[in-house]
Amino acid sequence: MQFNETDLSGELLEAVEKMGFSEMTEIQEKSIPPLLEGRDVIGKSNTGTGKTAAFSLPIIEKITEDSRRYVNALILCPTRELAMQACEEICKFSKFKKCVKPVAVYGGASMDRQIYALKNGANIVIGTPGRVLDHLRRRTLKLNNLSTIVLDEADEMLNMGFREDIEAVLAEAPEERQTVLFSATMPPAILQITKQYQTDPVMVKIESASKTVDLIDQFYVSVPMGRKTDALHLLLTDKKPQSTMIFCNTKKMVDELTETLINRGFPAIGLHGDMKQSQRTQVMNSVKSGRNTILIATDVAARGIDVKGIDMVFNYDLPQDHEYYIHRIGRTGRAGKCGTAYSIVSGRKQELELRDISRYTKADIKEVAVPTSSVIKENAIASMKESILESCNSPVSEEARKLAESLVETGISAEDLLSAILSKQVADTIKTLPLFDVPRPITRKNGKRQESRNTVRVHINVGRKERMAPNFILGALVDATGLSGSEFGKIDIYDKFTTVEVPKEEADFILDAMQQEKINGHKVSVKIHEERGGKSESFRSGGRDRYDRRSGSKPYSGGRGHDKSRRQSDFNRKRRKG
Ligand code: ADP
Ligand code: MG
Repeated sequence: MQFNETDLSGELLEAVEKMGFSEMTEIQEKSIPPLLEGRDVIGKSNTGTGKTAAFSLPIIEKITEDSRRYVNALILCPTRELAMQACEEICKFSKFKKCVKPVAVYGGASMDRQIYALKNGANIVIGTPGRVLDHLRRRTLKLNNLSTIVLDEADEMLNMGFREDIEAVLAEAPEERQTVLFSATMPPAILQITKQYQTDPVMVKIESASKTVDLIDQFYVSVPMGRKTDALHLLLTDKKPQSTMIFCNTKKMVDELTETLINRGFPAIGLHGDMKQSQRTQVMNSVKSGRNTILIATDVAARGIDVKGIDMVFNYDLPQDHEYYIHRIGRTGRAGKCGTAYSIVSGRKQELELRDISRYTKADIKEVAVPTSSVIKENAIASMKESILESCNSPVSEEARKLAESLVETGISAEDLLSAILSKQVADTIKTLPLFDVPRPITRKNGKRQESRNTVRVHINVGRKERMAPNFILGALVDATGLSGSEFGKIDIYDKFTTVEVPKEEADFILDAMQQEKINGHKVSVKIHEERGGKSESFRSGGRDRYDRRSGSKPYSGGRGHDKSRRQSDFNRKRRKG
């Protein structure tokens, strides 16, 4: 259905056309008519389906010369960005209807300026619940004549703990009003709100999830604990997305990952709710302008933010809610374009979570291997070859031709000449490529560690003399590496040192991670243990205490804290040093 088939007036149709919209999206088609009639609407649809136009066009339509002097509509949004974004969109829709004056009010920005705008004839107010309430209490915002209130991204507002604020705002609005609620998910708490505050609402549900998701290729990689950032590094280098969003579950993780990726030379930038308004605006501007092509965000910060042209989405952390998976990956593959999504999982629990997500979304999420550094190198060289061959089709200058002829005349073979010319270019390219690999984690059968003969012993220069106990040793190893306690095997504590059996493919990583590490206050040095011809020096120094973690000894159960993000930060700190 086209916009001009609705009852919207000419001024609005012109503005919408100017914005390049012709067909309405499904949510617009189904909710604009009842909204124009004045009905309460409850709408459920994914991010990016055009909800802003759906609720704001009818609001703008109803503002008249008579009603323009007071606040006609209030739109509550969960974040400052969303309020600003909706306000900008409303400005565009009302381009040819001069009596419409939208204003956005949100925390972290000057109160005075907002008060001034409110006093100066604002008739649509878009704001975050807290700041709106603040204005209501100061009487700088009055809702006596309000006819429509919109709760945009209602589920997110509830998640963020705005319930009381929202209810306080609703209490200030006239009884006789239109109440509109849009939400990407419909948890019971939302249904409760609609029951309490809406009258005979029209339910508009768009089940577009599977449709949009169909266009997105979905993959996952499974990596050992603590190796997610390395895996991401390899994927980003290999897949070279033009523009990407990476999702984390916490603000802290957003900060840490952003810092790490920047240190590793990626144009990354982070976005989360703790940032100052000016910072957040800066972030969005630099992403929209293409200066930063990697946006790292939490669900809440990213909710509803409209970034165009994303060709790849990464789930660094799996979303806590299955529907969020759809919203996240729906950031790519928009407007009929194809997109790709990668989820990075670590540990059995996350693998099972991903399986649940795949069942829930009915999506086929295929496992792929993390690209290896040698494949990345081969690909880089292959693409160099391609671009050289391509440049053979472009015209060459007279000078270049002459130089080439004179070089050939020297009798040096073409192969030698080319190698000489290419060697710097090749070296420069290789220099930027990662040198590490991320192996697949050791697989377990029936939940038990598969007996792998590929272990080595690492040597730690503290032992009984330093009063070492196995849980100190294991605790430090787990903390420093992020590996799970069960990855480590026998721990033998001798007088002056300790040996620990570790998976062979993780040995280098473990040595690296243990640099600068302290165990029970002792600075330690860790190296590969050199066996001395069957009888090791240890026996001479008075025997050992053996703790075999796999055969009944008490497993390590947290010593210095199991906080995942802390582990990650320790880990990042180490990788950066290296
Ligand atoms: P949502 O609130 O559902 O996440 P938005 O309202 O932010 O979605 O819209 C997402 C993007 O789609 C915006 O860039 C908007 O301008 C664009 N858009 C909305 N409606 C249409 C339409 N009918 N045709 C084309 N683009 C549209
Ligand atoms: Mg929206």
